[in-house]
Amino acid sequence: MKIVRYRADNKTEYGIWEGKTIRAIVGSPFRGIRMAGRSVKTSDVRLLAPCLPSKVIAIGASYRSHCMEMGQPILEEPMVFFKPASSLAGPEDKLMKPSGVKRFDYEAEVGVVIKRRAFKVPREKALDYVLGYTCCNDVSVRDWQNVGANWQWARAKGSDTFSPIGPCIETEADPFNMWVESRLNGERKQRGSTSDLIWDIPQMISYLSETMTLMPGDVIETGTPSGIGPMNVGDVIEITVDGVGTLRNYVA
Ligand code: MG
Repeated sequence: MKIVRYRADNKTEYGIWEGKTIRAIVGSPFRGIRMAGRSVKTSDVRLLAPCLPSKVIAIGASYRSHCMEMGQPILEEPMVFFKPASSLAGPEDKLMKPSGVKRFDYEAEVGVVIKRRAFKVPREKALDYVLGYTCCNDVSVRDWQNVGANWQWARAKGSDTFSPIGPCIETEADPFNMWVESRLNGERKQRGSTSDLIWDIPQMISYLSETMTLMPGDVIETGTPSGIGPMNVGDVIEITVDGVGTLRNYVA
């Protein structure tokens, strides 16, 4: 099932995306899904970021292949950072490259959307707290990352439009072997499977929830496989997670 959030007739609502049709649901999908008994044409709506997280938690250096390309050692624990809600963007939105920036990079990532409040969740129960999976682009200004005063990544990865997510939340996927890829102007740049993750998705949820309450709608960006690179104004960047969909954005 593909859950979307969309704008139609000056209203924002959630629905189930079935190709050319979206069936509206009552309220939000986090307390069980109840159909509203009406539908809209997909072509008549604007798809939005599929949820409104209280926080986006991103994991760095989580794919073996990306650690190797960055010349980084394999860490003993996940490297965790935040991206604020103000950095969210939705499908087809513009990603704003700040003026004067040289390296404005894409990072294709699988996003995990939390279904219900999670605190101190053991690994074997972690998937019970997942609503589904989405496509994320962890947009990064390399000029600012670890440079000068920017040893915290708040600006480099948390500025406006640096967290596009979407187009939907797929509730049925195999978290242990999900393929994620990026395409820049149609050319494939990255492709990797969550089977290459150093910490699998249940381990990430368990690790984070040990000290941090995960709220319904929170998104965990699980890190990027090798092949990262720069985007320039006018480029089209697409992130696909097989079985989920494609998140397309334009660099402005
Ligand atoms: Mg990343």
